[in-house]
Amino acid sequence: MILLDRVTKLYGKDTKPALNRVSLHIEPKEFVILVGTSGAGKSTLLKILTREERPTSGKIVVGGIDYDSLKKKNIPLLRRKIGVVFQDFKLLPQRTVFENIAFALEIVGMSNREIRHTVPKVIDLVGLKGKEDKFPNELSGGERQRVAIARAVVRQPKILIADEPTGNLDPKHSWDIVRLLEKINRYGTTVLLTTHNKDIVDKLKRRVITIDHGKIIADVAQGSYKQG
Ligand code: ADP
Repeated sequence: MILLDRVTKLYGKDTKPALNRVSLHIEPKEFVILVGTSGAGKSTLLKILTREERPTSGKIVVGGIDYDSLKKKNIPLLRRKIGVVFQDFKLLPQRTVFENIAFALEIVGMSNREIRHTVPKVIDLVGLKGKEDKFPNELSGGERQRVAIARAVVRQPKILIADEPTGNLDPKHSWDIVRLLEKINRYGTTVLLTTHNKDIVDKLKRRVITIDHGKIIADVAQGSYKQG
């Protein structure tokens, strides 16, 4: 599902590589935690997966799409396969919970009728029933992250990238979000989570990939969830 073969990323000619011959294989429906100190290369790896950045060398295949032969016009198709959530939520402040989620469907041309049918289901999934008409500033941090997750999964991506989703949350809300990611993973979405929260890494018992200076220095399977 996600395949990286000796991926190297140099931002400048004389700089050290942000990624240095990284090879990685993530199966469909896996739940993987990516850890590493600041500057290790985590964001670069995620940006390469979403095609925000291109590698200097190496091969990438995600969900059957070979990035070498990926045409510009097919990038939206790739982005539909990958949902992303961030530490700072990135919600639209002038839009309600419902509208924030609906927006992800409007931009791909879904009809209002389909939107009215689809959005409540995902609001239910993330546990925000009754909050549809609230604005982001009327919500707690944990609730805002739920909206961001709902928006990321409403188009049913194959992969959910969660980049430090608990970075702004207290421990209780952090665990609520992690449990929600696990629920989404159980429904069949591959989850790639980056976190600095050691408690989460230790207790989740999932595959943990450690990056340091642009290299994978550890890749430990800890009873990662596999179906079948
Ligand atoms: P992490 O997400 O683990 O903190 P990054 O992928 O952001 O790490 O950074 C890896 C390395 O690449 C760092 O040395 C960082 O300074 C460098 N880097 C990241 N983005 C850029 C950029 N746009 N231009 C130049 N250097 C960058």
